[in-house]
Amino acid sequence: MSSNESARRRMITRKDFLNGLVWSAGAALLSPSVSRAFQAGPDDADEEYFLAQGISPADPRYYPPALTGMRGSHSGSFAAGHALRDGMRWDDPAAVFDTGEEYDLIVVGAGISGLATAYFFRKLHGPRSKILLLDNHDDFGGHAKRNEFNVAGRTLIGYGGTQSIEVLSDYTPEAMGLLRELGIDIQRFEKYYDQSFRRAHGLKSCCFFDRETFGVDRLCPVQNDSVYFARPIAHADLEAFLAQAPLAEAAKRDLRRMHFEKVDYLKGKSRTEKIALLKRITLRAFLEQHVHAHPDVLKYYQQQPHGLYGVGIEAVPALSGIWFMPQGVKDGLALPREAIDIGYNEPYIYHFPDGNASIARLLVRSLVPAAAAGSTMEDIVTARMNYALLDQADAPVRIRLNSTAVRARHVGDPEQAQAVEVVYVVGGNARRVRASKVVLACWNTVIPYLCPELPQPQREALAYCVKVPLVYGTVAVRNWTALKKLGVGTVYCPGSYFSEVNMDFPVSLGDYRYPRSVDEPCLIHLVRTPCKPGLSTKEQHRAGRAELFTTPFATFEYHVRDQFKRMLGAGGFEAERDIAAITINRWPHGYAYDYSTLWDPEWKEGEAPHVLGRKTFGRIAIANADSGGEAETSIAIEQALRACREVLRLPA
Ligand SMILES: Cc1cc2nc3c(=O)[nH]c(=O)nc-3n(C[C@H](O)[C@H](O)[C@H](O)COP(=O)(O)OP(=O)(O)OC[C@H]3O[C@@H](n4cnc5c(N)ncnc54)[C@H](O)[C@@H]3O)c2cc1C
Repeated sequence: MSSNESARRRMITRKDFLNGLVWSAGAALLSPSVSRAFQAGPDDADEEYFLAQGISPADPRYYPPALTGMRGSHSGSFAAGHALRDGMRWDDPAAVFDTGEEYDLIVVGAGISGLATAYFFRKLHGPRSKILLLDNHDDFGGHAKRNEFNVAGRTLIGYGGTQSIEVLSDYTPEAMGLLRELGIDIQRFEKYYDQSFRRAHGLKSCCFFDRETFGVDRLCPVQNDSVYFARPIAHADLEAFLAQAPLAEAAKRDLRRMHFEKVDYLKGKSRTEKIALLKRITLRAFLEQHVHAHPDVLKYYQQQPHGLYGVGIEAVPALSGIWFMPQGVKDGLALPREAIDIGYNEPYIYHFPDGNASIARLLVRSLVPAAAAGSTMEDIVTARMNYALLDQADAPVRIRLNSTAVRARHVGDPEQAQAVEVVYVVGGNARRVRASKVVLACWNTVIPYLCPELPQPQREALAYCVKVPLVYGTVAVRNWTALKKLGVGTVYCPGSYFSEVNMDFPVSLGDYRYPRSVDEPCLIHLVRTPCKPGLSTKEQHRAGRAELFTTPFATFEYHVRDQFKRMLGAGGFEAERDIAAITINRWPHGYAYDYSTLWDPEWKEGEAPHVLGRKTFGRIAIANADSGGEAETSIAIEQALRACREVLRLPA
């Protein structure tokens, strides 16, 4: 029997999952009385899970964070959006139910940008402002998604997307001010994030070499993060790693040289010439043609940029990828720090257990105070969100989930109109709402379909950028004895299905405690980037998106089990015994597009597509991370404030 067959045979059955997710009344701190085993597919089903069960957000059993299986952009969330893309229209007034609801502001998209827009609007326009937020997902937060698991009576909280507060230098005073107003004190993470946890347990960075790429399955630990994140490494540590690595001797020599010899691989060129060249060639070309690295070195680095850029070394500009290179390469090139710096200079510790979903939850608690108890950054972590209260008729702010906006149209000439009508689809039915102002905090790619009246150049600018598809998986394991035994904290996998496999960040705050003992369940985080080497960056993103929409949960599950078995089997890990639950957060429309010096022009100030695309149109403004051209929470907040100010400049 091939290993594929045996792994398939042992796939978790629906019953196994139910058994894994026992919701005991006493222990279920955050858990609802409903759980879903997992969604076996088809994953592009039209129906959202709760709606299919007849459970509306007004029902106390409605609790999306506890759903496992295929999450992220889950089934049912994109059916109406894709129908719109494919030509369906809801223009016949008779076919649209008029709710009669009127608002000061309608926000399309309840991700961090949409929620921040509502927050700023209330702050600037007054707390009585009537605001409606619409989102196509069953949960708010957009990419900032919370995943919960209940394993043996213990609730584990994980993140399904937006991971951490990072690149603090990108936060404007207003964006950081918003975090502070929500009660977030960044410095406290220094206490909450146990920075000695991995060292104390001997959990190292590792590289998993897979047999399909390297001829043999082998897990090789290193003493620090140097192999993955290119930090300086001691000679002895590199030698210990290379002694086990299934790489050709010539490749090992190359790696030693790249780490310890300060060779200028672009000798004879000025700094300006070096930068110009590195912008024009791929990282792979730099390694091949200038470092003259052995093919095994190329294979080894292939997936390193995946988690950040959504493509491998053959599509990342060398200048953007130099950051991943060993210290010797960087020192030898002697480029100005700002030319190769990608901003990750602070410790990566600003992390809530559910990632930036806590920011989204704090925003929701501020907008709809009744929906969650508490008042601090600590108590939001375990606060149970009451979804039934998010859309109350008498509340100034209403958050309406499972509702895909399909039209935003001025009532009359956009320059003169006093109102905008928004049509949205919920459960297959179209409904109309009106507002004096609208902010589209959804994805840029959607906007030309919502507002076909937009000037053609703006429509083209909005459609220019292609979002980066990616997958964040979370696996709940019953214990982490195998990881401890093998000394595994984080794993970079240069050739495997999942390019990163990491034990969850050791963060404890409020009533939430990170597992201390190896016998306790814990979460393991996975990253997969569905790209297609050989194509341009945008084409890779498009191909990856198509792949995500057609890959069933069972395929992900198979690869989780297969990869875990091969990586951790020597530590006694048995997938069928040790895996309690799997959640796959697929993000076909993930990161905001990152312009590439290989494929995109260098735009003049103010002429980049994301800047042209975000122009206000009549009473409609545009927020979201796309409109800031960067996949960062700081940018999503900054753009929210800009859009909010734009609509507030309009006559009432
Ligand atoms: C996997 C992943 C990890 C990330 N990690 C980090 C990180 O660690 N730190 C960081 O700062 N940033 C990170 N980011 C970037 C992240 O995108 C931003 O930080 C931020 O969360 C984006 O917020 P947003 O509101 O602009 O977009 P989104 O979160 O995408 O929210 C937009 C919302 O609008 C909805 N929408 C779209 N069309 C419609 C429609 N027609 N009708 C109704 N609703 C609609 C979308 O479904 C979505 O819910 C990550 C992104 C991803 C995908």
